[in-house]
Amino acid sequence: MTTSTLRVVNPTTGELITTVPAVGAAEVAAASERAHRVFTSGVWSGLDPRERAAVLLRLAGLMERDAELLARLDSEDAGKPITECRTGDVPGAVESIRWFAEAADKVFGRVAPTGRGSLGVMSREPVGVAAAILPWNYPLAMAAWKVGPALTVGNCLLLKPAEATPRSTLHLAELATEAGLPDGVLTVLTGHGAVTGTALARDPLVRALSFTGSTATGRRILVDAAETNFKRVSLEMGGKSPQILMADALDYGDDLIDNMIEAAFLTMGQNCTAGSRILVHHGIAEEVLHRFTTAAKGLVIGDPADPRTQVGPLIGRAALDRVAAAVDGARSAGALIHTGGLPHGLPAYGAYYPPTVISGAPEGVDALTKELFGPVVTVQTFTAEEEAVRMANASEYGLAASVWTRDLDGALRLARGVEAGVVSVNSYSEGDITTPFGGWKQSGFGGAEKSTDAFAQWTREKTVWIHTR
Ligand code: NAD
Repeated sequence: MTTSTLRVVNPTTGELITTVPAVGAAEVAAASERAHRVFTSGVWSGLDPRERAAVLLRLAGLMERDAELLARLDSEDAGKPITECRTGDVPGAVESIRWFAEAADKVFGRVAPTGRGSLGVMSREPVGVAAAILPWNYPLAMAAWKVGPALTVGNCLLLKPAEATPRSTLHLAELATEAGLPDGVLTVLTGHGAVTGTALARDPLVRALSFTGSTATGRRILVDAAETNFKRVSLEMGGKSPQILMADALDYGDDLIDNMIEAAFLTMGQNCTAGSRILVHHGIAEEVLHRFTTAAKGLVIGDPADPRTQVGPLIGRAALDRVAAAVDGARSAGALIHTGGLPHGLPAYGAYYPPTVISGAPEGVDALTKELFGPVVTVQTFTAEEEAVRMANASEYGLAASVWTRDLDGALRLARGVEAGVVSVNSYSEGDITTPFGGWKQSGFGGAEKSTDAFAQWTREKTVWIHTR
């Protein structure tokens, strides 16, 4: 039974956008039982891969048709600049669904090199009922990373969007129905993490759970899975990613600064891969700090609905307080704070924080060690390459990193030395849909997103051993 509702509030204006059900534990159990029946019926899992692909390709087409609406839903719910949603999140989500659908009949099993008297065939099969729990910072994009591979291989999926951002996920499910996805294959369960999320993590019929969100929640989910049915858990969590600039990095000029700015401030720095720690060779530190700070101060702060806006509000007051406290802490510890401040005339309700650069922070302050999830970066200097690697790895996280230098040997040494799931050389990128994405250390484990590697999260391997005579 739905016991309550969730209020979806626009973080820019404070306006109540809508209410959605806050799904309780009993409803989660009913949904998973239904998903289990649908899976077992074979109405989806029993289709040929190409038949499933046809439905998902139709879904991708419908998402393209409704691209503007989907962009608006995420922009309004999360406070993300509309231009970011139009040019990044929505096209990326469409591409994910399409790419995985196209791969449906291109992922092969294996045959073991047995003797002549037998044949060992290993095939990948769907897990049955799967679940995914999503964050609010990339609502549609993260939904697509899960829906694409999970449904392509024939699972039934229970999808829980974040409290603040359910609408694009709900619309995605409507489009899936319009595309011909049978009832009960994709079920969106809106609700509170502690109730709906916990019920999914503890559900006995859910065999695999893919989570994207904070490290604290990931830890809780792992415990819930261990205490119940040992469902397979994959975790994509936080980060504190370094951008390493070697002595020749300024050879890349504006391209370097533009990449650094995007890495630091996309989605107001509320980005798991945000390049929030700039590690720069001391010889170029002054010039980098000057150029980067000038560019940061020049970003357009405003209403996310305005296509010119590059920086909108944070997701809420608590986020603003957390970010402000870390910056104040660094200032009190003797760091220099570089910021352009906020312009006049911003929507009064929005939790705006200006792009901020911290230099000279002493070791151990929160700004250097904690994931702030806001538009704040620190700048630290190094002299030797080994020192850069040591500083880069001085974090419990290991999601992403970048290395800037013309020296290919040096770049490869650094890329090998840095503990992170994705290291970009002379760019700041997570790669594209063809390359796996996943964290090291406390940024995550249990399986990659994107690429054909993602299918491993949503399948289990079966060996069929045939004795021949
Ligand atoms: P969060 O952990 O607070 O919430 C994420 C989801 O988990 C939400 O749907 C929430 O309702 C649910 N949840 C909360 N408590 C739960 C519980 N006890 N059991 C089950 N589910 C629960 O994270 P957030 O604030 O929404 O997102 C920000 C975090 O996500 C950041 O740490 C960011 O780095 C991370 N993130 C990681 C990636 C990645 O791919 N590595 C991508 C985006 C965001």
